[in-house]
Formats: sequence, C-alpha cells, structure tokens
Amino acid sequence: MPDVVDLIRAKRDGGRLADPDIGWLIDAYTRGAVADEQMSALLMAICFRGLDPAELRAWTAAMISSGERLDLGAVSAPTVDKHSTGGVGDKVSLILAPLVASCGAAVPQLSGRGLGHTGGTLDKLESIPGWRADLDNAQIVAVLQATGCVICAAGPGLAPADRRLYALRDVTGTVESIPLIASSIMSKKIAEGTASLVLDVKVGSGAFMPGIEAARDLAQTMVELGNAHGVRTSALLTRMDAPLGRAAGNAVEVEESVATLRGEGPADLVEVTLALAREMLALAGVQADPAAALADGRALARYRDMIAAQGGDPDASLPAAAHSTVVRAAEAGFVRGLDARAVGVAAWRLGAGRARKEDSVSAAAGVICLAKPGERVSAGQPVLELRADDEARFGRALDALEGAVEIGPRPPQPLSPVLERIGPGL
Ligand code: URA
Repeated sequence: MPDVVDLIRAKRDGGRLADPDIGWLIDAYTRGAVADEQMSALLMAICFRGLDPAELRAWTAAMISSGERLDLGAVSAPTVDKHSTGGVGDKVSLILAPLVASCGAAVPQLSGRGLGHTGGTLDKLESIPGWRADLDNAQIVAVLQATGCVICAAGPGLAPADRRLYALRDVTGTVESIPLIASSIMSKKIAEGTASLVLDVKVGSGAFMPGIEAARDLAQTMVELGNAHGVRTSALLTRMDAPLGRAAGNAVEVEESVATLRGEGPADLVEVTLALAREMLALAGVQADPAAALADGRALARYRDMIAAQGGDPDASLPAAAHSTVVRAAEAGFVRGLDARAVGVAAWRLGAGRARKEDSVSAAAGVICLAKPGERVSAGQPVLELRADDEARFGRALDALEGAVEIGPRPPQPLSPVLERIGPGL
C-alpha cells in the first residue's frame, strides 16, 4: 500500500505518479480510505504540476474503473454522443440528439445538471410536464432502441470517483486544471459506453475556458484521452461570446429548440448544430445529410418520440413566467456585442440556474435576446426581455447586465460560430 504523503510530496516536487499508485489512490479515495485533506493537497499539487499524458490516461482509467461501464452492445445502430463544456443558451443537445438519431446513428446522452451561469440540459427538459431524467440502465437501452436517442441523468454508478473528486475540487480551488477537467469529463463519457464522441468546446466570455489557447489545450487533451480509451473522439471549438440563439433559461430554451426542429431556428444555433451533427455522423460512419433531416421534419418527429418515451408530453404548454421586464437600447445603431456571461449570470439570478447542487430551478425564468449582434436597433427599443416568477429577482439580474449590450454605428464583422476542429482524420 503506497504512503499517500509520499505521493503528495512526489507530485509537489514535480515527479510523476506510477500507474499502480494512481489506481490504488482513486480506488481508496472513492471507498473513503484516503482523507479529503490528503486528496485536496494532491489535487492542488496536480493544479501546479499537471499530469503527463501517461499519468492522465491512468488517472482517467482509474476513475472509469471506480464504477460501471454501460453496455450498449444491444443497440444495433452505431453509437455517438456529444458533450459541451457549457455555454449560455446552449440548447444544442435538445435538437442534435434527435437530429442525429433521425439520420441513423444512436445517441446515448447522459448529462448533468447546470451549475453556475451555464444551463443544464436536464433542467431544460424537466420544464416539460411529465418528462423524467432518471432512468435505469435497462430503460436507457430501451429508449435508445425505440427512438435512437436518449437524454437522461448519469446514474450514481458511472465514475463515482468523479462525484467525490468534483465536490472536493469545488471547495478547494482545484477545478481549473486541464488534466483534472479532462479526466472528469472523459471518465463519465467513456463509462457511458458510446463508441464515438464529439466535444463542443466553447470559447469566449460565456465559456468555462474563455481563452482560445486554454480551450484548445483542453480539447486536445480530451480528444487524446478518448481515442486512447477506444472511443473515437474529436472536438469542435465554437464561439461563446454571445448567447447561442435568443433564449437563455429552461422552458424558453425548449421552445426555441422546438422552433428550430420546425425549421424556424436562429442562424447561429442552426449552424453550430449542423456542424456538430455532420461531425457526429462522420465519426459514426453514417452517410446522411442532417440539414435535410432538419428541414423535412424527421428530426422533430424523433424529438417528439424521445420526449414521450421518457414520460413527457411534447404537446403540453410549458410554464410561463408571472413577471417580465426589458432592457432598452441606450442609443440607435447596431448591436456589436452581447456579453454571454452577463446574460448567463442574469438568467441564473432570475432563477433559471442554481447556486448549490441541491437547489431547484425555475422552469419559466430566463432572458430572451430580442436583438443579437449584427442587428439594427433604434434608441429605446427593447434588446433583452427578462422573465421571472418573482419580481424581486429583477434588480440583481439587471445589475449583471450593466454594460452587456454594446451598440455602435456599424455592424460587427460576421464571424463563423465554428472556430476549429481537433481530432483524427475522417
Ligand atoms: N465539467 C465536469 O464534468 N468536470 C469538470 O471538472 C469541469 C466541468
């Protein structure tokens, strides 16, 4: 049995950890046999010293081995999933999973809930009456077989080491470490059992990693880890300077997703979704045109099937907010910028997000971007609409939006929302 203090010292001094020691440590910590204060010290040493590629592979393998690996062998179509590092108005999964399924691949999307200013896919879908996020393994496979896609909560059996480690990182200032983030995300995605995976790594003010260098580093690290563990993995770096689409919240994002599946989606959301769909289908080896499946209603039909298979009523009206207010343009001109982080924090303060894991969220709260970058506004025209169940929430949400809307005499340069691809050749 290794001495934990020796391992902490070795990492503190820039040494490397041997594979068997990593395996033992993660297992012992998950069982409660290594103390939080010792793991905290090691995590901080990793923040400063990093993990080399071989250490990171062993660390991730140990996290996967801490729990079960879902067996999707019964699913006949090739499996492919997408993971986003999180953004504001990022409702892509709701459209993408049924879209890719309607093209012939199977999408097992095991997700988490939102924390902080970025929303969570499960919170969004839970605004649909009757829809259930908690499925057991047999139900996951059954929904996947029946509809080609499932979006549900990752059960406690998948990478339980990550639950403990993430909770500890959250309170010890050790979240922001590329190897720790990469192993956390990839252990859960690899344990999910998908054959292929596309990572949507967001870049910009609303992203977890705002700078492109760090986002690229994270993407490369995760792509290498996925492929090393036998999951065909690639990444797209996509912009998150402004919210994606017009809606940020829960029910409001479901409404915008359904509009997109009906062919009435905002251009940026459609472009990112189609780029990810093409990448997923290419990795899965399926030849199909996702733009056609979006245009002819096949993707919408799959969405309805998926919602119904998880107990939801796709025709039910969604919760509406009791109160709303607007932010108006201070001057006439073109919207040059709409700060994603500010909109995300505002939506969060309106009740759409949670501060602690145990908190509940408001289905109806959120922000609607009535004008997006590139659009012309007149002085006094409403640019943002804020919705909440409780009027008292408006004050702090409006504070977050101070300076968030930039207006100028000329429109900004139109920029593609997709920045780069990282991954194996197709
Ligand atoms: N999301 C995760 O699942 N883990 C991290 O460490 C960061 C973001």
